[in-house]
Amino acid sequence: MTVDTQKETLEFQTEVKQLLQLMIHSLYSNKEIFLRELVSNGSDACDKLRFEALGNDSLYQGDTGLRIRIDFDKEARTVTVTDSGIGMTRDEVVDNIGTIAKSGTRQFFESLTGDQANDTQLIGQFGVGFYSSFIVADKVTLTTRKAGLPAEQGVRWSSGGDGSFTLETVERETRGTEVVLHFHEGEDEFLDGFRLRNIIHKYSDHIPLPIEMLAESTGEEDKEAAAEYETVNKASALWTRPRKDVTEEEYKEFYKHVAHDFEDPMNWVHSHVEGNQSYKTLFYIPARAPFDLYDRDSRHGIKLYVRRVFIMDDAEQLMPYYLRFVRGLVDSDDLPLNVSREILQHNKLIDTIKAGSVKKVLGLLESMAKDDKEAYASFWEQFGKVMKEGPGEDHTNRERIAKLLRFSSTQTDSEEQTVSLEDYIGRMKEGQEKIYFITADSFAAAKNSPHLQIFRSKGIEVLLLADRVDEWLVSHLNEFDGKPLASIAKGELDLDKLADEEEKEAAKKNEDEYADLVKRMKDALAERVNEARVSQRLTDSPSCLVMGEHDMAVHMQHMLKQAGHDVPPSKPDLEINPSHPLVSRLKDESDAARFASWSNVLLDQAMLSEGGQLDDPVAFVNRLNDLLQEMIK
Ligand code: ADP
Ligand code: MG
Repeated sequence: MTVDTQKETLEFQTEVKQLLQLMIHSLYSNKEIFLRELVSNGSDACDKLRFEALGNDSLYQGDTGLRIRIDFDKEARTVTVTDSGIGMTRDEVVDNIGTIAKSGTRQFFESLTGDQANDTQLIGQFGVGFYSSFIVADKVTLTTRKAGLPAEQGVRWSSGGDGSFTLETVERETRGTEVVLHFHEGEDEFLDGFRLRNIIHKYSDHIPLPIEMLAESTGEEDKEAAAEYETVNKASALWTRPRKDVTEEEYKEFYKHVAHDFEDPMNWVHSHVEGNQSYKTLFYIPARAPFDLYDRDSRHGIKLYVRRVFIMDDAEQLMPYYLRFVRGLVDSDDLPLNVSREILQHNKLIDTIKAGSVKKVLGLLESMAKDDKEAYASFWEQFGKVMKEGPGEDHTNRERIAKLLRFSSTQTDSEEQTVSLEDYIGRMKEGQEKIYFITADSFAAAKNSPHLQIFRSKGIEVLLLADRVDEWLVSHLNEFDGKPLASIAKGELDLDKLADEEEKEAAKKNEDEYADLVKRMKDALAERVNEARVSQRLTDSPSCLVMGEHDMAVHMQHMLKQAGHDVPPSKPDLEINPSHPLVSRLKDESDAARFASWSNVLLDQAMLSEGGQLDDPVAFVNRLNDLLQEMIK
């Protein structure tokens, strides 16, 4: 039989070239990780085959052995990693290692700064994978054959790590993949059995497959003597071991394998649940948010195993969406091996496991929040915005999630979100019944909002909410610990209980004194406002807008309009500050046209301070200029 080799040379994507260059330069101090990455890929490939073969055991083609072998050849200067896993077709080779089949690549490159130390960290966050071979090798040859295909449909991929790679069709007797690394001159340390065994122990003991090397391998001479392979790693599934038997290092290495991450995790929780249902879980919180945290198509979720057999990646049914940053696995004793994604969606066992898993993760976060404030602050910085999706998604755990939330507030006036709702309640004033907040489209806008003035002057704390998700959060979190959450920019302020007699009297007096002005303003602005009134909120600004209890915040309306949505018109209330000179001056204005003009300016500036947009900005500017001109006359 003739094999059409179809040898072709293909260019890497520009981004792959950049990535390769960056990796080679930034990871040079940690070269040995190439072996971890190749072993990890071999192990994934064996997992995939075992799973596919559940429904079709002819894929084994007579050899059910799943293993990874590592050989080296001192003279030829090569290290070879071979797996008996699923293998790849020609198209898969091109897709998987000719391009970067990872979401987030673009963001990754956009966030590079050119500063070596910084970029090295970033590449760690991105994960390195197959290309890490080029840290030590100046040529890499991968030969593979997909399980189930005939021998003549093997594929060979080869590259020097520069701009291109070659592909050809070859004959390959055994299924699976073999990667041969041709080492740089001077890169001798890895051509050594002792060194390779050490690296395997360090990074890959937890891999639940045998990783084999030639017995007492010292190189070429043993092979000729028909030497036996022996298993080098522990080869037991780490998550099945009791917690006390697993070292911190092993947990960390296992994380890098399951999460395809290069950095240590922030924390983890490992448990064995026995009872009606038995399952094991091991969940990790990454140290850093991935680039694609907000990408709906990103891979997320948890690996599912059934009685130690890998079933699937990204089983999103096992974790709610707001915990999509959690990595790790669930291993069930009770699910059938042939479980599919469809079955997962309507399965009582899965619902129980999911509920239990969420509790584990929330429990871990609670203990971090309690015992390690610094770690929790770092968690919050990375994943806080995602956690804020929680109360809207997970009603069962709403109170628990609410306790984990952190905010900026007028107490700290810092953009860093450190205030919990419990902290807030602990600082509530005598007579204060609500948890006050303000939403805005930036922290500065929230912090400087005119609405805050009265609260600041009375020393009442207000949460400053400026994340996009905050509007969504407060629409689902109406109360905490029996205290309603209230926007200070909506509805009438009810600070009566917090005012003393003197203040109440002054307010009453102002109301009477300004009743006429307020009425005239309301008439002048009838088209634009619902109502005008004397404000209880302002101490410095002349005016502010107040939305109805159920209306959308001004900045949200603006945001939605910009995104092309129809926003139902809602007229705000205008409040004026009687102690402001502009306002008291307006009281004496008898010229109707000028009165209207001033009133419009007060309304427009209130709109601008809310992050809103003026329907007619030119009119605003003209009016303002008229007023300024009068001043210089
Ligand atoms: P990752 O493992 O994070 O996906 P890699 O760069 O390590 O990234 O690998 C890229 C892809 O190439 C893998 O997802 C897999 O599809 C494919 N691949 C790599 N090595 C093997 C292998 N030994 N057997 C089968 N497929 C492989
Ligand atoms: Mg990999």
